Amino acid sequence: MEAIKLTEGLSYDDVLLLPGYSEILPKECNVQTTLCKGINLNVPIISAAMDTVTEEKLSIAIALEGGTGVIHRNLKPEEQARQVAGVKRFLNWIIESPVTIAHNAYVRDVRLLVDTFGVSGFPVVDADGVLMGIITNRDLRFCRDDSLPVTDVMISDVITAAGDITVERASEIFKKNRIEKLPVVDSERKLTGLITVTDMEKNHSFPNAAVDKNGRLIVGAAISPQDYKIRMPLLKKAKVDYVVLDTAHGDSKNVMEAVSQIKKEYKIPVIGGNVATKEGTRKLIDSGADAIKVGIGPGSICTTRIIAGIGVPQFTAVMDCAEEAVKSKIPVIADGGIKFSGDITKAIGAGASVVMIGNLFAGLKESPGSEIIYDGRIYKEYRGMGSMGAIADGAGDRYQIGKDEEPVPEGIEGRVPYKGELKFFLNQLVAGLRKGMGYCGCKSIAELNNYRKFVKITAAGLRESHPHDVQITQEAPNYSRL
Ligand code: IMP
Repeated sequence: MEAIKLTEGLSYDDVLLLPGYSEILPKECNVQTTLCKGINLNVPIISAAMDTVTEEKLSIAIALEGGTGVIHRNLKPEEQARQVAGVKRFLNWIIESPVTIAHNAYVRDVRLLVDTFGVSGFPVVDADGVLMGIITNRDLRFCRDDSLPVTDVMISDVITAAGDITVERASEIFKKNRIEKLPVVDSERKLTGLITVTDMEKNHSFPNAAVDKNGRLIVGAAISPQDYKIRMPLLKKAKVDYVVLDTAHGDSKNVMEAVSQIKKEYKIPVIGGNVATKEGTRKLIDSGADAIKVGIGPGSICTTRIIAGIGVPQFTAVMDCAEEAVKSKIPVIADGGIKFSGDITKAIGAGASVVMIGNLFAGLKESPGSEIIYDGRIYKEYRGMGSMGAIADGAGDRYQIGKDEEPVPEGIEGRVPYKGELKFFLNQLVAGLRKGMGYCGCKSIAELNNYRKFVKITAAGLRESHPHDVQITQEAPNYSRL
């Protein structure tokens, strides 16, 4: 019998980054990162695909601040795709299919369109889609005769833009010409889009938003080897930016097969997971995964390690998987076990490009689920996707539990303190990361990935790290132990 080779497994609490010489201030650190090839984020944080964490509202809120949300799959495929489409619509830099009016229509038809769509102006097009003019509320305001043809009232001398226009150039055109709508046309003057001043202003209000090349918020969706054939066409139509193969054991044949099949059929990036070893990481990469999600058992609501006796402490798991993934330039997402902002710094120091968070986001105003008042404090529900409640609502296949089988949960149901709006809470997390980068003298996520200086600590070291020998009288916004 071969001797067992016992290796060491460390969690975030077992280590600290070594402080090092620095020439930069935290606010000068660049926290932009790559989620996967072709998708960049302005903060290295994404929200977990869980039914008490990420739906449309939280996805919008986190993308506006530079991260992205993964919409969970305890939703019917149509509803999940509808929510993805809702996120994509929220910031509309160029409206790709604007409502138009035909050149042979009448003023009364325009008024009907205004009532139906609540839009204040329409490009006028001929039967081939060629732009003839534009008609807006301003033109309708003083028009008393609804039987007039649109062509008598519209403005024909329209300022237009070509498809490759930039946000900066569009801003200049709006300012110079004092217009509110800018139609986008191709070389044959066929209408291909519309830019509105309202959408431009919305864009300006969120300078750190994580957006695609058309200025729309970045959003992902969870799928599984069992349901991807149904979900993928709907998600593609909804313009999802990336999908996450959301499984508890990514080092499995059916997950690898699903990754390669999706990569063959779609151009959408696929994140594979979860794994916790170099071998699992390599196999997912060889199957075509665009990023690797790491974490077997670190989640705050997870009982996998206790029920099944398997797992890898998260710091070691991230370190091992990142060491393998970097050989193929594939990013790693550290999923689960983030308790404080310092854990984000440690995860990135271990080699991750991004962290995925469930617990810390479940208490936010924008998360799904209602507020619970308990013992005079406000809480929100937070449950594992392998908990009895989530399985009853359909999440069993993540844990290989068939519809008619007796559930063996790998997660629990609980509550977490209410935390208010995402914007403020996320700022605290990012500020903590920036502080860590400042202490290490790392200007970027890549520099922190390559810093590679940690000290292992003892239980006494951890005790010393937390506030000790004092009763906290005023809770800080970035430190709470429930
Ligand atoms: P947290 O941020 O520590 O709460 O971890 C969230 C992560 O836990 C998720 O992104 C999932 O990977 C994982 N997870 C979610 N539900 C369960 C479960 O029921 N059992 C085990 N892991 C889970």
